[in-house]
Amino acid sequence: MTGTDALPYLAIDLGGSNTRLGLFATLATRDFTLLGAFPTQSSYIDQLERIQMLLRERGIGELAGAGVSVGARVARDGRSLVLGPNFPGYLGQPLEADLETRLGCPVRLGHDTVCGLLGERRFGALREAERTGYLTISTGTGAAIQLGKGETALISSIEFGHQILEGNERVCLCGQIGCLETFTGGRQLELRYGRPIAEFADNSFWQVFSAKLALGLLNLALLTRIDIVAVSGAIALENDFLLPLVQEKVNALLKWERLPLVRAELGTHAPLVGAASLLAVSAEMILH
Ligand SMILES: [Zn+2]
Repeated sequence: MTGTDALPYLAIDLGGSNTRLGLFATLATRDFTLLGAFPTQSSYIDQLERIQMLLRERGIGELAGAGVSVGARVARDGRSLVLGPNFPGYLGQPLEADLETRLGCPVRLGHDTVCGLLGERRFGALREAERTGYLTISTGTGAAIQLGKGETALISSIEFGHQILEGNERVCLCGQIGCLETFTGGRQLELRYGRPIAEFADNSFWQVFSAKLALGLLNLALLTRIDIVAVSGAIALENDFLLPLVQEKVNALLKWERLPLVRAELGTHAPLVGAASLLAVSAEMILH
């Protein structure tokens, strides 16, 4: 399977702060070699050049394909970014075509939550499941869902963090009033309270945080009938108490459904493994 003459696959994790590149000898496993990382450039052209520079430095030549996980909404045709406060200089640029030209191989783009779900579906906590969700609790609160079986499954990112909670008068960074993310988004909470989320120790804060998140998950479960949610993101991964607390509240709210929340297994590797996984599934499976 891994003949020495087979071309490798490139995975790019294009995050709001940092960009990481990984090389996969095969798409059949989650194993990869980390090629390096650099601060995500605000200039779109500089970013393309940094990617090429890193590949040159590492002596990477011909590639079989490249998958890119981006922390921004991807256009419906999968070829550019259309919404993403961290990437103002990239919006509307032909990212897929420009990378294909510079890398000389087919390129696939995916929202980071879609990549996270794909990675967990192929190698992690969501194997074999037909109705699944992937939730990331980090600077923002994002999610993706998968409905369907095998190659007929559809995967879509959803605006989980921007569902409206009744009675919530907080203004969200997105401009709407009442979004869930005003209670659960790392960036919004830090702006609101003026300190890093890692310093939030008081129990009443986390009780409210988990209660709001549980309400959001209840809505998600009832609207989609997903059976399981893999949870990732820095806030979830760094606070071991959070998942059981949210699960307890979800259990109390859901009367005739169950919604197990499980820790995502790929952890910090999710974006790179998920980006490579874009190349392993048909483009028709993903709704951008
Ligand atoms: Zn919002």
